[in-house]
Amino acid sequence: MRVISPLVYAALAASLLWIVFSVTTALLFMLLVLLLVMAYRARQLYKLGLWLNDARLETIPEADGIWEEVFSRLRKMVKRHNQTKQKLAAELQHIEQATAALPEGVVSLNEFSRIEWCNPLAEQHFGLNAERDIMQDITYLVRQPEFIEYLHAANFGEPLVMKAARHDDMVLSIKFIPYGGNKHLLLSHDITQLERIETMRRDFVANVSHELRTPLTVVNGFVENLQDMEDLSPDNIRRALQLMAEQTRRMDNLVSDLLILSRLESDQSPLRTETVDMKALFDEVYQEGQLLSGGRHQHSLKLLGPDQLCGNRDELHSAFSNLVSNAIRYTPEGGAITLSWTLSGGQPVFSVQDSGIGIAAQHIPRLTERFYRVDRSRSRGTGGTGLGLAIVKHIALRHQARLEIVSDEDKGSTFSLVFPASRLIT
Ligand code: ADP
Repeated sequence: MRVISPLVYAALAASLLWIVFSVTTALLFMLLVLLLVMAYRARQLYKLGLWLNDARLETIPEADGIWEEVFSRLRKMVKRHNQTKQKLAAELQHIEQATAALPEGVVSLNEFSRIEWCNPLAEQHFGLNAERDIMQDITYLVRQPEFIEYLHAANFGEPLVMKAARHDDMVLSIKFIPYGGNKHLLLSHDITQLERIETMRRDFVANVSHELRTPLTVVNGFVENLQDMEDLSPDNIRRALQLMAEQTRRMDNLVSDLLILSRLESDQSPLRTETVDMKALFDEVYQEGQLLSGGRHQHSLKLLGPDQLCGNRDELHSAFSNLVSNAIRYTPEGGAITLSWTLSGGQPVFSVQDSGIGIAAQHIPRLTERFYRVDRSRSRGTGGTGLGLAIVKHIALRHQARLEIVSDEDKGSTFSLVFPASRLIT
């Protein structure tokens, strides 16, 4: 109606002109009206054409009449389109954030193993660049032969364990998951920590077996000898039993140290603290030391630190005794051993100083590892299990203390436990 009505009115006016003037006047009038209408529409079409080149809401042309309606509908359409675009962009961003937060690397590969997309963790694992490497063949960028073989074999039931390309110390577990026809998702998981724990577990089992095997072999040997001997003299029997007792004591020591370590490492046994009477504790440790030394060393005690400490008495006793026992075992006869309890810079410090064999600098950082020994035969010869300092380290950790080792080869060592000031009782 709105398109036709101006023409109908013009035709009516032309009919009137025809009646009043002449047919020529009417036709001229009608021609003029048609020309004006066409010019107006051509102008609006031109504006529409211009706007379509860059269809933005802000630049939509103003008009009236029928064109106002056309442009207003277009405005609504563009508005709806913009809203949908914004919603989709927000959802896409959401998905991108979620995949970026995944604890796994994700690479989506098309049917030709070309990278379509990858998350930041995959960039780290495979040394990729999410922008530069799009549509690159993954086998050009991840070139380890085992990776390429795994991809070509297409047997993805078991994950592939391999080293990361750019980080030699990183171990990855890799899986391909087929999806959408011939496409694949490549998932990578950093299992460096798990592998390290697994290696430690294997080493530990091997070490314990080895430690137990030696005394067991000795005891076994004596039992067989005794069985085979035809004339068993009481002296032989006594000697064999004595040596067997030594070996069983060694196994017993090892098992009790292992049990202590496992209890200290367990999350289920948090530190039970109490007020520890340090003078009484030192008297006990000092006397035990003298007994163990059997008069072979000169002992001295310096008690200048606080009378009480907040900690676990049994654990402190075990740590101090271990350090004193080491000082005695690694100090030749005639050497000096000094126990001291002081306050240094507001922190309580327990130290054992000896004038013994000392430790070369390169061994010091590894001394608290389980079964680490500078000299195996010397440690075993003195009844060491190789677990003493590991136990001390754990007890120190549980008391937020640190173990400091200062040593000079052939001159002696000082082992100190530095407790935090918060363990003082005021
Ligand atoms: P072990 O039972 O072998 O003594 P530890 O864990 O107590 O085990 O000590 C680890 C190693 O540290 C020992 O084997 C020894 O080589 C060295 N060590 C510990 N304390 C001393 C010390 N006071 N003097 C010299 N070496 C020591």
